[in-house]
Amino acid sequence: RVIVLGSVNTDLVVKVRRLPRPGETVIGGTFYQNQGGKGANQAVAAARSGEKPVTLIAAVGNDVFGRESLAALQRDRIDLTHVKVKHSISSGVALIMVDEGGENAIAVASGANTALSPADVNEVPDSVFESAAVLLACFEIPVETVRAGMRRARQFGVTTILNPAPVPEELPADLFSDVDIMTPNEHEIARLLHLPQIEDEAGVRDAATRLLDRGVRNVVLTLGARGCFFAGAEGTGFLPAFPVKAVDTTGAGDAFNGALAAALSEGRAWGDSLRWASAAAAISVTRAGAQPSMPFRREIEDFLKI
Ligand code: ADP
Repeated sequence: RVIVLGSVNTDLVVKVRRLPRPGETVIGGTFYQNQGGKGANQAVAAARSGEKPVTLIAAVGNDVFGRESLAALQRDRIDLTHVKVKHSISSGVALIMVDEGGENAIAVASGANTALSPADVNEVPDSVFESAAVLLACFEIPVETVRAGMRRARQFGVTTILNPAPVPEELPADLFSDVDIMTPNEHEIARLLHLPQIEDEAGVRDAATRLLDRGVRNVVLTLGARGCFFAGAEGTGFLPAFPVKAVDTTGAGDAFNGALAAALSEGRAWGDSLRWASAAAAISVTRAGAQPSMPFRREIEDFLKI
């Protein structure tokens, strides 16, 4: 199986003519509610693209948002046995306003995601880790909880993927050596290493090398429409993105990570797994939204003509 350790959020979006100033009310908007959270998105991507069961370790509040998030995840057959329902704290919610030009203002209440503890991870029975091939984690949950997940996965010989998004203020140095595959985008790798933004190919190679020097076994640096650069124990090279007409790139990284985890859990080779992830992400950007845009296995196979 694949274990996904991460966040569950609900996005409450109002599309308005223009963003209100402090104290102002702007009426006439339209409202959308989207399931989100990087952990949930990645779990959906892994479940749809893969044939192995996906177990999510996460936390929600005892409220309507949490219940709706879980209902959506259940429709994708994700194992929710180890999702904690935290009392006296809300589910994770993002309040998003978007204006006509696409400019946005976002306020996030991380809620139950911040209450997902190392103890919650350590409570998950050994049998779950014993039957896992891959653990995929992201931030939006406490760093210590991610560290506990990585550590535990490693003890069971489970391949660990860390999508370092969003990059926390501080990372314990010993986290890196528990990571088999780290998958930052360009902004994240720059923040992780306290480097200026990457300008060119030399910058890409240099940043990846620096991350490997920290003890990570492999780096897959995603470069948006340019594809990805991978380096480390499994090999080094560029994989160009599939050319598609992008409609909405929200969740591209989540599609990539979830599909990569699924492919590796099925024992696919490294290059094939990266191609699979890249195809899943390319399909996802041709559709609106994050979770709804995650492609199913059959669609990826058709896309790759396999
Ligand atoms: P994030 O969504 O985390 O910022 P990226 O923007 O780097 O991550 O995208 C992740 C992956 O999604 C890329 O490596 C690429 O494979 C794919 N991708 C992103 N944008 C496009 C695009 N416009 N066309 C095709 N593939 C894309």
